[in-house]
Amino acid sequence: MEDPLKQSFLSEIGQVSSLQELLNIKARYIGKKGLLTEKIKGLGNLSTEDRKFYGKYYNELKNFIEELLKTKESELKQREIEHSLRKDIIDITLPGKDYYFGGCHPVNKTLIEIIKIFQELGFTVEEGPEVELDYYNFEALNIPKNHPARDMQDTFYVSEEVVLRTHTSPVQVRVMEKKKPPLRFISPGKVYRCDSDVTHTPMFHQVEGLMVDEDVSFSHLKGVLVYFLERLFGENTPVRFRPSFFPFTEPSTEIDIGCIICGAKGCRVCKGTGWLEVLGAGMVHPNVFRFAGYPEGKYTGFAFGMGVERLTMLKYGIDDIRLFFENDIRFLRQF
Ligand SMILES: [Zn+2]
Repeated sequence: MEDPLKQSFLSEIGQVSSLQELLNIKARYIGKKGLLTEKIKGLGNLSTEDRKFYGKYYNELKNFIEELLKTKESELKQREIEHSLRKDIIDITLPGKDYYFGGCHPVNKTLIEIIKIFQELGFTVEEGPEVELDYYNFEALNIPKNHPARDMQDTFYVSEEVVLRTHTSPVQVRVMEKKKPPLRFISPGKVYRCDSDVTHTPMFHQVEGLMVDEDVSFSHLKGVLVYFLERLFGENTPVRFRPSFFPFTEPSTEIDIGCIICGAKGCRVCKGTGWLEVLGAGMVHPNVFRFAGYPEGKYTGFAFGMGVERLTMLKYGIDDIRLFFENDIRFLRQF
């Protein structure tokens, strides 16, 4: 008659399907408290004759079990390797993933276009610091401490004398301090104002421009800016000049183009007027030349400024400025 211990071992190992199960079986039979181990421990209680017989038998059984466990183990390991190979198989016939190339941000696109137009007109590009002294941001632009025009701008103050520049105009002053006319440059860059809604963000881009020489007149201002707007928005774009006020120019003007959204018929964007304001400009105020240390009455010039986000919104018909800074790839891919 077959030994029931051996029988049950053989039936269990026949059904084993994982290494963990195999370890359990090993423990159950030949582990420290295994069924066979206990039997071997119990040999001492047997008669000499039985001990001799069973001792030999159990030893052989133990060898047999160990042998079989080892064979089964290598079999299971092999099966596991094959399984993981099959699982990780790479189907090289599948179509690949699509990769998109990065593109130019719409605001940058407009900025590059603006710079290009002015460079063709002989303007150079000048830059200045974004963290600016109150002196350059206000004082030297004819906006003294008690000037009501300071209320026009919501300023981020770093300290009493240091601000995040609220416009790129301070670059004018810095350049004029260093260079003598003729001057013809634009200064593009980031500016900061404490303001946030559909048409305002706390940081946005401006391009400021300045042309100074002997005998620069308002006709030069008109000629340059009308040409610029026609290049940016298309030939025959209607352009009009309205009187306005800026502390650093006199006379000052705001410049509108015919609404490109409604074709000057009147819509929500142009508030029914058919016109869109796109530029501020004017003849440089004599006080600004005085601050720059230029000889009295020798030079004249004009300055202008524009918001790059606003121009981009008009150019592409975008109605929420915040879209530019949310980095939604679906929005950015349209440009
Ligand atoms: Zn309109």
